[in-house]
Amino acid sequence: MPDVIIIGAGISGLSCAWKLKKLGIDAAVLEASSRAGGVIRTENVNGYQIEWGPNSFQLAPRAFQIIDELGLYEELLAPDPHAPRYVFVNGRLRKFPFGPLSFGGIIRILGEPFVRSKSATDESVSGFFRRRFGGQAHDRLVAPLLTGMYAANTEHLSMAAVFPRMVEMEREYGSLAGAMLRSFTRRSNSSEPAPSRPKPRGSVFSFHGGMQVLPAKIAENVNVQYGVNHARVGDAPVTVLAVPTYRAVEILEQPHSAIANLLRKVRYAPMVIAATSLPEDSVKEPLRGFGFLAPRNQGLHLLGTLFSSALFTGRAPNER
Ligand SMILES: Cc1cc2nc3c(=O)[nH]c(=O)nc-3n(C[C@H](O)[C@H](O)[C@H](O)COP(=O)(O)OP(=O)(O)OC[C@H]3O[C@@H](n4cnc5c(N)ncnc54)[C@H](O)[C@@H]3O)c2cc1C
Repeated sequence: MPDVIIIGAGISGLSCAWKLKKLGIDAAVLEASSRAGGVIRTENVNGYQIEWGPNSFQLAPRAFQIIDELGLYEELLAPDPHAPRYVFVNGRLRKFPFGPLSFGGIIRILGEPFVRSKSATDESVSGFFRRRFGGQAHDRLVAPLLTGMYAANTEHLSMAAVFPRMVEMEREYGSLAGAMLRSFTRRSNSSEPAPSRPKPRGSVFSFHGGMQVLPAKIAENVNVQYGVNHARVGDAPVTVLAVPTYRAVEILEQPHSAIANLLRKVRYAPMVIAATSLPEDSVKEPLRGFGFLAPRNQGLHLLGTLFSSALFTGRAPNER
């Protein structure tokens, strides 16, 4: 039996296993399904490369370190960093960030340094941004952006959980604009690992072979056992749970019912992904950019659309 078992071979469990391997600790990943990656799943169908989970990721220093250690640096793919993002407002796609706002909405954002109130305990994301930047900035920028990321209503998202740094900035400096101005004059004091080579330019990344390249590569290099449905806490001296909380509840119910009861309160939002394809000449203007987000009150029953083939090369056949 290894010293550590990690339940779940999604990106969390796999990156944990990779880190333990680097530290020389004997670990095994126990995965219920027959594949690694969890919600990260790339499928190649009739010349299309489709992502059924995340489409791209930000290259945080620790993610970059793992990618470099695995020899995937050359596989990284970045879209044009200046590619526009859009928000669907009043029947049209408007360029992020100012396009969706009225003159009054922009003036209200500029008034942020003069807002004196401070965050109450566990304020919602909606409460925080409405208070500091106004209703329009919240409804047309923040809410669609966060709904695109979390698929959740900003009234149910905790500011302290989603943007802890912003709550701190407000508490310390009285405004976010003030905090940003001060941060320009301060030296960075980061504890992040120093990269072994220059970080490629870009805001988000994927791989030539799609998002699944990363979990598949880690899985090749660590000990993963597939089709394990009855892994339990205590089967090894240390157990790491890297499964969604509703699965963790099932595993923890017997030995740790108090923790299971807490985890039961975590809400998950259901989500449907649809991949669509259009002939290039069926759109009036060539699709450029990341895609668009749709605020809830704009009458479109979707969170947003990614222009995958405009974002990354090799995602669709020519002329589609
Ligand atoms: C549609 C979608 C789009 C997203 N877009 C982005 C994005 O663009 N950028 C971004 O950074 N993030 C994005 N995310 C979020 C990100 O993909 C996830 O947070 C992350 O992949 C979750 O990884 P995980 O390992 O924690 O969990 P999971 O991927 O859920 O992996 C859990 C694993 O545990 C296994 N498992 C479950 N129960 C058991 C059990 N009892 N025993 C053994 N194994 C078990 C499952 O089979 C699965 O393999 C997106 C998520 C979704 C769903």
